[in-house]
Amino acid sequence: MSTDCLFCKIVAGDIPADIVYSDDKVIVFKDIAPKAPIHLLIVPREHVESLAELNPEHDALIAHMMRLLPKIAKDQGLEGGFRTTINTGKDGGQVVFHLHIHLLGGQKFAA
Ligand code: 5GP
Ligand code: ZN
Repeated sequence: MSTDCLFCKIVAGDIPADIVYSDDKVIVFKDIAPKAPIHLLIVPREHVESLAELNPEHDALIAHMMRLLPKIAKDQGLEGGFRTTINTGKDGGQVVFHLHIHLLGGQKFAA
């Protein structure tokens, strides 16, 4: 855990969040400022700053997160599809420096 990390605090239960799924590796909660009718964040329990900090020890975690996405989308009723986004670094629009995947749906996105 990183003591000044917002998502570590949510993982620890120190800051409330609307959690829709959790297991031993990740939690999934609603984004506080949704950019689509459904906007969830898939967040590893382990503090990893971004995609750029991943190493081979994270391979199982990343595979787990990727394979979880369609399951969460199905649970949310997103039968027609969904969009995923990962912002990396300040130029990539990352604001919270704890790795997360945005899962957006409930509308039709432009190609
Ligand atoms: P980033 O730009 O780092 O990829 O995305 C960070 C996301 O975290 C943003 O979409 C923002 O709305 C969301 N967020 C920031 N603070 C909080 C919070 O306290 N609670 C929740 N649930 N989401 C947050
Ligand atoms: Zn963190």
